[in-house]
Amino acid sequence: MKTIFWFRRDRRLQDNQALKFAADTSSSVLPVFVYPAAVTDMSERRRGSIEASVQALARSLPRGLQVLSGEPSVVLKALANQVAAVRIIATKSFDPEGIRQQEQVSSVLEGTGIELVLLGSYYQVEPGTVLKDDGTALRVYTPFFRRWQSFASEKPCSIDIAAVKWETPDSERQFHVAIDTQAEQIKAGEQFALETWRRFKKQRIMDYSENRNRPDFNGTSNLSHALAHGEIHPRTLLADIGNSPGEEVFRKEIAWREFYADVLFHNPHTFEKYYEKRFEQLRYDDPNEFAEKLAAWKTGNTGYPIIDAAMRQLVQTGWMHNRSRMIVASFLVKDLHFEWQIGARFFEHHLTDFDPASNSHGWQWTAGCGTDASPFYRVFNPILQGHKFDPNGDYVRAWIPELAHLTGASVHEPWNDIAGYEQGYAPPILDHAQERDEALRRLEEIKR
Ligand SMILES: Cc1cc2nc3c(=O)[nH]c(=O)nc-3n(C[C@H](O)[C@H](O)[C@H](O)COP(=O)(O)OP(=O)(O)OC[C@H]3O[C@@H](n4cnc5c(N)ncnc54)[C@H](O)[C@@H]3O)c2cc1C
Repeated sequence: MKTIFWFRRDRRLQDNQALKFAADTSSSVLPVFVYPAAVTDMSERRRGSIEASVQALARSLPRGLQVLSGEPSVVLKALANQVAAVRIIATKSFDPEGIRQQEQVSSVLEGTGIELVLLGSYYQVEPGTVLKDDGTALRVYTPFFRRWQSFASEKPCSIDIAAVKWETPDSERQFHVAIDTQAEQIKAGEQFALETWRRFKKQRIMDYSENRNRPDFNGTSNLSHALAHGEIHPRTLLADIGNSPGEEVFRKEIAWREFYADVLFHNPHTFEKYYEKRFEQLRYDDPNEFAEKLAAWKTGNTGYPIIDAAMRQLVQTGWMHNRSRMIVASFLVKDLHFEWQIGARFFEHHLTDFDPASNSHGWQWTAGCGTDASPFYRVFNPILQGHKFDPNGDYVRAWIPELAHLTGASVHEPWNDIAGYEQGYAPPILDHAQERDEALRRLEEIKR
């Protein structure tokens, strides 16, 4: 049976259930990737990260990869007709955009004799599987985690790639994505993901529970990019860890990713709408009226060193440490009084690990309107957060050259140092204590 294998956010050849099914049941397989239509909404870095991932996949396939661009339903149907394929196989997606795409593909194939087969997922446990006894979805992480563990036993699957009869892609269509890209400099792909995992497991996972909150040094796995692109599957990671304190915490972090995927699956509107609807009523500021303040946040010029370091890290590298994500998100919503979606869309533009569920729900957790969220009245103090999580000031100095001349933790309060503004660093655009009070006043308004 001649099959098209449609690679989506599962760009790897091992531990790929849908690909294994294609390999086991097809007379030949044509591997295809469809480039997203909305690449113009992405930063150059993010576009480059996707292209690097696609190129790595293409290099790992014995006969290369056919790359198309456009709406999957249109280009896949045309391709299937052109090569006389009778089946398209892909990993099943559970987020709103992925579901929309696969439903459209399925609908255009109706009556054509070409079948769409969807199986597997990007998760250890398929979203929608873990339910309460009464059959409803879980809203709180800890009980979700307990139940999720009882479903999370599936082991990685291996595929004999050499035994598959791969079709040779149309040579003109192998790489015809003409975008300005930084892809050549970005390390990506399944092999790189596995190496990153091995290195983390050998060198850092034992200290992960203590170090994962510190943006000033490399204490986390840096695997979010590989997980978002599907260059590694969580099954591979979870099957490879034991029960040491670091490994336990790591398992719980992977489960947060699974929890948010589950929440988004049950509540697809929460990709851009409030999970807790009452927060729609909160008084937010108009980004057009306060455009300068928003621009200061986006460019890392708020005058609060930890915020500015984090935002510059995001724009320059396409990644930001989890602790920093929480601090800058709190600042946008509770100090600047903008809606969380403004920050989420800015993150989506830049993050090379962008994930619709983790991003929308990471934002809603911090903004107090998500499921099992941090309460709104918990307002992060950017100065104290700086001292606590970047105690020597190294993170700030690494990203803010205007503060590189200050020593130790004094970088977190340049206003206290006689030389603090000597190199052109901007003074604070707001008074955190005043804005915290303002946020809490606005919260009172929706409580009445
Ligand atoms: C406002 C905000 C936005 C976020 N947006 C994204 C996003 O778009 N994509 C994304 O992958 N993560 C997102 N996160 C979660 C988290 O910040 C990143 O997963 C983490 O920083 C990635 O670095 P790492 O791989 O080194 O993490 P590690 O600490 O090594 O964690 C291992 C893996 O566990 C998962 N994980 C860890 N923490 C979380 C978490 N809080 N929520 C969900 N999954 C988690 C990730 O897949 C991560 O790769 C967001 C968090 C916040 C607060």
